[in-house]
Amino acid sequence: MPHLPEHLLVGYRNFMNGRYLTESGRYRELAREGQAPETMIVACCDSRSAPEAIFDAGPGELFVLRNVGNLVPPYEPDGEFHSTSAALEFAVQSLKVKNIVVMGHGRCGGIRAALDTNSAPLSPGDFIGKWMSLIAPAAETVSASTFMTATERQTALERISIRYSIANLRTFPCVSILEGKGRLSLHGAWFDISTGELWVMNKETGDFERPVLE
Ligand SMILES: [Zn+2]
Repeated sequence: MPHLPEHLLVGYRNFMNGRYLTESGRYRELAREGQAPETMIVACCDSRSAPEAIFDAGPGELFVLRNVGNLVPPYEPDGEFHSTSAALEFAVQSLKVKNIVVMGHGRCGGIRAALDTNSAPLSPGDFIGKWMSLIAPAAETVSASTFMTATERQTALERISIRYSIANLRTFPCVSILEGKGRLSLHGAWFDISTGELWVMNKETGDFERPVLE
């Protein structure tokens, strides 16, 4: 007997009676023609920061990659398992997306773990520790700032990690070449879960600013 948690079956029934019904033509077209999203989003796994919900996106619109802390590692073609790099490669080289948005969010547990200097030292069996050690140098610098409150340090590292991931995106040859040709643009954004505010990175300064909405 097939089995799923009840709330998922209820949600699926609502989807079939609602969204799938109104968008069935779009789904059929996407099945026939294949996907051609123009935008890739790198977001956190956090259940409160779903890009499709925040950007009100329909099927086929966003190519979404989610991992703990919305991090992009540097380009390392070393034969290891690199799921984030694989998704990036597919989005850029096969789908030829025009935009990549790294979207962080407030109250990020991954970022909090990176800042938590009281936690156990990173051990070989600790996946999150190893993963978040990508931003360890920044985390150590931010942690050392006694002038900042804990909340300020958290927000600062959330935003620094977005800039760090964008810098790492540029270490991928396929990204830097296409960006240089003006065929791919890189963006940063930060979502405040408690207020719903979206802050967008200024490309010149790296600061996060509220976008003007029409
Ligand atoms: Zn998060």
